[in-house]
Amino acid sequence: MSETNIANNFIHAFIDEDLAEGVYNKVATRFPPEPNGYLHIGHAKSICLNFGTAAKYSGTCNLRYDDTNPVKEDMEYVNSIEKDITWLGFKWENKLWASGYFDTMYDAAVELIKKGLAYVDDLSADEIKEYRGTLTEPGKESPFRNRSVEENLALFTEMKEGKYADGEKVLRAKIDMASPNINMRDPVIYRIVRATHHNTGDKWCIYPMYDFAHPIEDAIEGITHSICTMEFEDHRPLYDWVLKEVGFWPNPPRQIEFARLNLTNTVMSKRYLKALVDDGVVDGWDDPRMPTIAGLRRRGYTPEAIRDFCDRVGVAKANSMVDMGLLEHCVREDLQYKVESRNVVEDPIKVVITNYPEDETEMVTVENNKNLPEMGERQIPFSRELYVDGADFMEVPAKKYFRLFPGNEVRFKGAYFIKCEEVVKNDDGSIKELLCTYDPATKSGEGFDGRKVKGTIHFVDARTAVPITIRNYGYLMVPDENGENVLNPESLVETKGFAEPLLSEAKPGERFQFFRHGYYIADEKLCKDGNLVFNRIVDLKSGYKPE
Ligand code: ATP
Ligand code: MG
Repeated sequence: MSETNIANNFIHAFIDEDLAEGVYNKVATRFPPEPNGYLHIGHAKSICLNFGTAAKYSGTCNLRYDDTNPVKEDMEYVNSIEKDITWLGFKWENKLWASGYFDTMYDAAVELIKKGLAYVDDLSADEIKEYRGTLTEPGKESPFRNRSVEENLALFTEMKEGKYADGEKVLRAKIDMASPNINMRDPVIYRIVRATHHNTGDKWCIYPMYDFAHPIEDAIEGITHSICTMEFEDHRPLYDWVLKEVGFWPNPPRQIEFARLNLTNTVMSKRYLKALVDDGVVDGWDDPRMPTIAGLRRRGYTPEAIRDFCDRVGVAKANSMVDMGLLEHCVREDLQYKVESRNVVEDPIKVVITNYPEDETEMVTVENNKNLPEMGERQIPFSRELYVDGADFMEVPAKKYFRLFPGNEVRFKGAYFIKCEEVVKNDDGSIKELLCTYDPATKSGEGFDGRKVKGTIHFVDARTAVPITIRNYGYLMVPDENGENVLNPESLVETKGFAEPLLSEAKPGERFQFFRHGYYIADEKLCKDGNLVFNRIVDLKSGYKPE
């Protein structure tokens, strides 16, 4: 199992307590996705918590598909889930399917009936809802609540045998219609649905409800700590009731809830994300703007950055909104010591060094990673014609603008001091090129006359420049004037640029720092047929300050 640095949290305090008191003598967790979409960063938090907790206690974590709903299995989702968990660096003990436990669940329901703790109800779904009462009023007992055990057994068998139409009858736990907890007011535990299940085919026309099925799944697998999100807190009494009353498992699991992860500037609902994919708003589940693990991977995020993020967010009981800036901060921190930099210019402007020989090219030295001298240096070509970044020139400089403008001298990183002498325009008024001069005495590392310049910019040699496509991403969602999150129309801005020759060797999935710009990855899908397409993972600076 991978290195995780799961911080101490209240869940681990519970576990420590359970181990100390001998309630359990090992720790077994599970991650239970429903295979109805791709995993997102919220799931990553659950994955890090479940697998990380198991690792911390030298225990085990199962991958269990929650497929009690008889919907078609989608192998695309199943494969993506396994790929994502593995990529995050975790290994499941067993891969299991909740539908594999249908027989035991049925036996458990029969057991409840035999104990007089479950009954077949003929009320319609609407009537059941009406009878349930409200937070302030108790519920009303169903007229079918006091059927005899024999009658209930016979009816439940008939439900299973397909004697009734979908929705005609349900099996309900017989608990307490006056309970202050609405979940305990005789919850439905089995319903009739005629649908072919991907695993069990047409064997069943009755299917267990989540609140009944989940504790049984956990108990069968010997899970000790069933970690789930806060919305299940009010369901915990039912979870405990099911396991206690069925009685098949002498040492049942303990459910512990934590607050789900919410992130600014994105959405975390599978349904919403699926709609974005289906409507073609994004380019698939792995679109680099998506908060899915697949999207983050294609965007260039590393598993280390995501694990670090989940760890820093921590585990809490109170719901909160985490700033997307923290996720960005984590990947920036991770990449700053990992990747080499390359010179790339966007929105390029041609520079002609008028006093540099026409046919000459020299190699100048730049460092591969300014944070890490061990990463060494490389040589890049410098000659009479160069490109600089569009943002590094202003014809009329703003206040405190120290880069290129007419009459100003700057340092070209790794090369010389260069002075802008003249701006040459096209007929339409756009800039054709900048005529500049260089001072041969200022070659970097060789010393110069003590003259200082305020700006240092980078460049790409024009003759050997490699054309690339750059995809700069904005947030998927931004607030509108009412503060409501809406799709950001500028979530993808594609531009063309030029890169130093070495970047032509970039392999799909390889990451770089584009010097002075940000971190980028060669896109897995779009880098083909000689095209070089880079996704911006994150820019270099941020206003975000982690506490
Ligand atoms: P949906 O979007 O369909 O409601 P879900 O979020 O419930 O899906 P599941 O596949 O059921 O998705 O989730 C698997 C596990 O991941 C569950 O244990 C769930 O609690 C956890 N999980 C899902 N979203 C988050 C989140 N935002 N933060 C933390 N854990 C999450
Ligand atoms: Mg769910």
